[in-house]
Amino acid sequence: MSKHTLRKIALLTSGGDAPGMNACIRAIVLTAYHFGIEVIGYRHGYNGLLQQEYKPLRPADVHNIIQRGGTILHSARCLEFTKDTAAQLAAKNLDSLGIDALLVIGGDGSFKGAEHLARFWNGQLIGLPGTIDNDINGTDATIGYYTAIETALSSIDKVRDTADAFERIFIIEVMGRHAGFIGLSAAVASAADQLVVPELCRDKEEELAHIIAKLDKSRQERGNSSHIIVITENLWHSNAAVLSETLQQRTGLECRPVILGHVQRGGSPVSQDRMLATKMGAYAVEAALDGQTGVMVVEKDHQLNTQPLAVSWEHKKALDPYLVKVQNELFT
Ligand code: ATP
Repeated sequence: MSKHTLRKIALLTSGGDAPGMNACIRAIVLTAYHFGIEVIGYRHGYNGLLQQEYKPLRPADVHNIIQRGGTILHSARCLEFTKDTAAQLAAKNLDSLGIDALLVIGGDGSFKGAEHLARFWNGQLIGLPGTIDNDINGTDATIGYYTAIETALSSIDKVRDTADAFERIFIIEVMGRHAGFIGLSAAVASAADQLVVPELCRDKEEELAHIIAKLDKSRQERGNSSHIIVITENLWHSNAAVLSETLQQRTGLECRPVILGHVQRGGSPVSQDRMLATKMGAYAVEAALDGQTGVMVVEKDHQLNTQPLAVSWEHKKALDPYLVKVQNELFT
C-alpha cells in the first residue's frame, strides 16, 4: 500500500451496539499509533460529532477493553443527522479539529450517515460493519453477529430444558429487525423445530397453517413433546406473544412466548467477533493510509477488502441457502 499522509483520524460507534465494537476501537487505536497517527473518539454516535463531544484515544485508553461488550464511546441514534444542516455542522467540526479521516463503526444506517456527510466534507470516510444483525451485504459476517448467535443459542437451550419437562410449545423471539441471520443460525444450532424469518415468511394465514401442520406432524411422530419455534422480532403483528396466543387458540395446546430482547446485544464478544473486529479495525486504518474513502471494510472467504458504502444498502444480503434447505426441507 502506498502511504497517504494521515495525521489525525476520528472514530465513532453508531446505531445498535454490538459485542466486538471495543475490540475494533482497540485495533484502530493501536494500528494508528503504529503509524504515528493521532486518534480521537466521538461519543454517542453522530450526536458527538454535532456537539464536539470527543476524547483522545491512546493505546493506554484501549488497554483491557477487548473482552468488554458495548462500546466505550457509547452509541446512539441521531435522527437529526439526515438533515443537510447537521452534516454541514459535522463537516465544520471535523475540519476545525484537523481530522483527515472519519471511521464509522455501525450498520447500514450509519453508513448512509457517512455517505450523507461525504456530500459536505472532503475528508476520508471508512465504514466498519458492526451490528449483531449481520444484514450488511458484501461481508460474510459483521462484528457482533457471532456473539449474538451464542447468546440466543444458550437461552434457547435453557428454554428447551423447561419445554421438555412440561412437553410445551415455546415460541422464542430473537433479534433481527429485517433479517433472519440470527434466527436461522440459532434455530439450526439449537435444533429448533420451526423457523419464521422475514426472508421466508409467507402470508400470515398461510404461515400459520404451515406452522400448525408441522406441529401436528411432529406430535404424530413423537407424541407429546417439547416443540421450539424460533421467530425474529417485528414479525407476526410485532411479536411472538401474538403468535403464541393465536397458536394456542387454534390448536388448544399450551404455548409460551419467550422474547430474548436486548440480552442478545450484550455480553463479552466471542473469539470470532474479537478476531474479526481486530482485523477489520487494523485494515480500516491501512485503507485510510492507502487514500481510500467512501468504502466499508468487508471480509469474504477470509479475505479482507473494501467495497463502496452503498453496497451495504443497495443489495439485500441473502441467507445461506444450504442452511435454509437443511432447516426447512431436509429436516422436516
Ligand atoms: P443497527 O441496524 O445495528 O441498529 P444502524 O447503523 O443500521 O445499526 P440506524 O439506526 O439505522 O442503525 O442508523 C444509525 C444512525 O445513522 C441514525 O441514528 C442516524 O444518525 C444515521 N443515519 C441513518 N440513516 C441516515 C440517512 N439516510 N442519512 C443520514 N444519517 C443517517
